[in-house]
Amino acid sequence: MKNIIYLAIFLTLFLFLSTPSVFAAELCKLEIAGNDQMQFDKKLLTAPSSCKKVTVTLKHVGKLAKNIMGHNWVLVKSSDVDAVGPAGITAGMENNHVPKDDKRILAATKVVGPGESTSVEVDLTKLDKSGSYSFICTFPGHYALMKGTFKIS
Ligand code: ZN
Repeated sequence: MKNIIYLAIFLTLFLFLSTPSVFAAELCKLEIAGNDQMQFDKKLLTAPSSCKKVTVTLKHVGKLAKNIMGHNWVLVKSSDVDAVGPAGITAGMENNHVPKDDKRILAATKVVGPGESTSVEVDLTKLDKSGSYSFICTFPGHYALMKGTFKIS
């Protein structure tokens, strides 16, 4: 009988302790999609400041092939958009169009094609909460249209 009581207490505590963390983890996930019209479906992504890290998932919802209409998701300071955008072209597909070992790249996914999705973790503790950040697609020719604001609040 004692064992059953202990078990009940344990289960209650377990449920009590695990539920809020599952809930918080859900909040720390963001989703965005890229299409064949060379557009993201969102112009703004807001990461809750209560999260230490957020997982950003990019989905390619188009039908055009990866080498023609591939998309990635790259996080940079807003002041670096016009420099990193064109740098994606020379980085080449073998590097997912992301300049290698470039400190301006704060987070980046690989390039995805139709029906594919990919994720990247953004470490919010390394970002300035009052800073100005943008996300872009660095596939050649895309960043002018495929960009948006990344906010922490
Ligand atoms: Zn793109």
